[in-house]
Amino acid sequence: MTDPLPIAEAAPAGPRRPAPGLFLEKAPLERYVAPCKPSLVGLSRDALAEALGSIGVPPAQRRMRVQQLWHWLYVRGAQSFDAMTSVSKELRALLDAHFTLARPDVVAQQTSVDGTRKWLLRLPGEHAGEAPHEVECVYIPEPDRGTLCLSSQVGCTLNCSFCHTGTQRLVRNLTAGEIVGQIMVARDRLADWAGAKDKSSSNVRLVSNIVMMGMGEPLYNFEAVRDALLVAADGEGIAISRRRITLSTSGVVANIARTGSEIGCMLAVSLHAVRDELRNELVPLNRKYPIAELLDACRDYPGVSNARRITFEYVMLKGVNDSTADAKALVKLLKGIPAKINLIPFNPWPGTGYACSDWEQIEKFSEIIFNAGYASPVRTPRGRDILAACGQLKSATEKLSARERLALRAMAMTD
Ligand code: SAH
Ligand code: SF4
Repeated sequence: MTDPLPIAEAAPAGPRRPAPGLFLEKAPLERYVAPCKPSLVGLSRDALAEALGSIGVPPAQRRMRVQQLWHWLYVRGAQSFDAMTSVSKELRALLDAHFTLARPDVVAQQTSVDGTRKWLLRLPGEHAGEAPHEVECVYIPEPDRGTLCLSSQVGCTLNCSFCHTGTQRLVRNLTAGEIVGQIMVARDRLADWAGAKDKSSSNVRLVSNIVMMGMGEPLYNFEAVRDALLVAADGEGIAISRRRITLSTSGVVANIARTGSEIGCMLAVSLHAVRDELRNELVPLNRKYPIAELLDACRDYPGVSNARRITFEYVMLKGVNDSTADAKALVKLLKGIPAKINLIPFNPWPGTGYACSDWEQIEKFSEIIFNAGYASPVRTPRGRDILAACGQLKSATEKLSARERLALRAMAMTD
């Protein structure tokens, strides 16, 4: 078989300087092809109105019908048009003839001893007969919140050297429907919809927060991510407020201001290094958008304030970026930016040349940051038992291709 995208092969698999001329960005191999009976999941109000128009609902009725559909879709989580009892029987039949309420198929589900849940979701490929693609969605319950980690791409446009996804091809961008679909699947599986049978009478939602920290670089799929997050944040629907939505980027400066102005969510930036030379190696996109430019975009992030700080993620790589000098330089670098710092223990994957910093070193690093006035939580690994259990998942999903299994392992980074 010919290799349609050799550039992915150029991605470094260890702590080596990428070869000069390495492609910074990969082009998608595939595009999304809508099924002949499309799903309404993920549509905005305008798109719903258009869909209604396309099946002959008169303009004067559309607003009211959109309101009804919005409620059934995003408050009640209806899985069939039949369940939409406030909608006339005729319209329900008409909708059913033209549309579905399909979410991505769940291929596998795992629950960790700490309550973390992982769903492996199947997404259609572009060509009939080809193996479907898979992404994961992870739910992390905590005493005061429940966070859902969403994917934005199958694979990733970029090629960070410490990230397993970065060594893979970019297969395709997810659609807004597939991104919202991940939230729908989680709420379905957790019985987290208003009026769900085994839901307690309280209005407290299990899925209270969203992080765009799964597979892919969300700012290389900006429009779909924006449209999906605007649906998620709508107060009359899924209703997860923008303050509870965090988008993590490796530093796509060109789309950072738009993230603030068009989505208005919280921003997390994968910094990982304090010097351009090292960041070029870890996050090769740094050669396009170096640290100073990235931090300027952070300073100017619409809505940034002490109450709405930017999170800087810093993966702890043994002997690479974890010295006490690095910690001091980090504090200096972020001076004047309303910031939080998240230290992430490196999650090793087969074939990586990096190792996670020793615990004592992480503590030393974290202490310097703490003494500079930052709360510096080290992200506690969650769901290790299921994330580490790719071997087990493999037996449950033996038919997955090697690439898909790799994708799964890569998702262990959602710790
Ligand atoms: N593409 C986006 C969001 C997805 S990655 C980004 O890069 O920000 C989410 C976070 O996990 C990022 O901070 C990323 O750098 C980090 N990460 C990737 N691989 C990791 C690994 N093996 N161990 C620990 N963190 C990792
Ligand atoms: Fe892509 Fe983020 Fe991984 Fe970099 S760290 S390769 S941007 S998913």
